[in-house]
Amino acid sequence: MRRISILGATGSIGRNAFDLLMRLPEAERPEVELVSGASNIPELACQAKALKARIAVTADAGQGAALAEALKGSGIEVAAGSDALTEAAARPTDWTLSAIVGAAGLAPTLAAAANTGTLALANKESLVCAGALLKQVCAASGCTLLPVDSEHSAIFQALRGERLSEVSRIILTASGGPFRTWSRAQMAKATLDEALCHPNWDMGQRITIDSATMFNKALEVIETHQLFGVSPEQVEVVVHPQSIIHSMVEYRDGAIMAQLGAPDMRGAIGFALNWPERIDLPVERLDFATLSRLDFEPEDPDRFPALRLARRAMARGGLHGAVLNAAKEVALDLFIAGEIDFLAMAAHVEGVMDALDTHREINLASYDLAAVQRADALARATEPLGETGAVPTVSEA
Ligand code: NAD
Ligand code: MG
Repeated sequence: MRRISILGATGSIGRNAFDLLMRLPEAERPEVELVSGASNIPELACQAKALKARIAVTADAGQGAALAEALKGSGIEVAAGSDALTEAAARPTDWTLSAIVGAAGLAPTLAAAANTGTLALANKESLVCAGALLKQVCAASGCTLLPVDSEHSAIFQALRGERLSEVSRIILTASGGPFRTWSRAQMAKATLDEALCHPNWDMGQRITIDSATMFNKALEVIETHQLFGVSPEQVEVVVHPQSIIHSMVEYRDGAIMAQLGAPDMRGAIGFALNWPERIDLPVERLDFATLSRLDFEPEDPDRFPALRLARRAMARGGLHGAVLNAAKEVALDLFIAGEIDFLAMAAHVEGVMDALDTHREINLASYDLAAVQRADALARATEPLGETGAVPTVSEA
């Protein structure tokens, strides 16, 4: 019997994983060591009971008592706070899903990587902020790193049985998000509700807004470079509004392998959960007769500077990915709070990257978790450098 942990069980990815696990006959369901969440205590308690988890952890230290109350008499251990979460994530398992959102997922993901057989990674921020470190930890523990992001799952599947040395290009598909056809002037006035209307995928709030700015694709370009060891130049992005082709790999002979499917994250999560086997999954099947067309467009760097910033972070190496991500998280919070407009998010990230470009703590050849956390904190505390070299406030950026 396999033992598994789910970090971020109450999120969009976590709920999809929960759905897949609950569909399995009880006798085939893995033993669950840990489920974690943050503020949604009733749901976390409900999942912990349904999955008979050993321990339930809320990252929110103030919610420990509420979680203990919700699980009273169940025999399920309870813990609260981010240190407790990282400690619980280090419990030995055969398979762990890393589905916390943002840089907050890094420490628990590294703890899991050191103590699990297979790390199913949805938390792309771990690879963006600390790719070299995560891969080092996996190599030392013998942990297999499996992608859960749909594009990377597609690439992983398109690479099966092939040689990485024979790959010429990886072509990441991007839906283009809700503003694919909007002008820059329209985007400048985009509201939170408009940014939350993703045309194809049903995801958490933060990644949905990141899809609208294309920062999600920017993180995914870095994730591809880190995960598959291809050079930044080998990673291309094509806008494909239907999100049916989840990504493609081109080989040196010109052959392209693509993975297709309905836009449903249970496909990629189920693949990672059952790998190396494939089992029946409750995802819609493609009907090519009604699909009728697949469209493609080039990326537009003027309206979506995020991809250019990702390429810059890859070219600079070190902890520039951690800076990009932290500045992006700050800008996202400000946009959600209504304090900056939509286009100011990318301007903020670029300004922070400019300000920290030559900083000693960012340009490290190798780093540990503490160094990544320092870079993250530095980026969060940095005012963006504007075009004039002046230091504007965030709202002017
Ligand atoms: P979400 O916001 O829906 O859920 C996030 C989970 O993390 C929740 O369980 C939440 O309680 C927990 N959490 C939030 N803040 C935390 C903190 N400070 N410490 C610990 N736990 C915390 O997010 P999501 O959309 O499920 O995305 C999760 C990850 O998967 C992200 O890295 C995202 O980029 C990636 N991803 C998501 C999708 C998707 O379809 N949603 C697709 C591909 C990749
Ligand atoms: Mg994706």
